[in-house]
Amino acid sequence: MEPRTPRPCTDGPFLVADPPRPVRGCATCAELNGLRASAQAEFDRSAEVDANVRLRRHQREEHAV
Ligand SMILES: [Zn+2]
Repeated sequence: MEPRTPRPCTDGPFLVADPPRPVRGCATCAELNGLRASAQAEFDRSAEVDANVRLRRHQREEHAV
């Protein structure tokens, strides 16, 4: 058992050490995750960050992460 202490808000979109993980069965998560994957494949750092930001925001709104 481990207490679920929320981590302090380090919400700098450019300091994403721990990218959000797509939620199973969610089309939007899958889509944004795909965007991020292709950005990574193309070494497009800004597109990658953008996809992470969008994925995070989507998860916050839709999945209450
Ligand atoms: Zn989702």
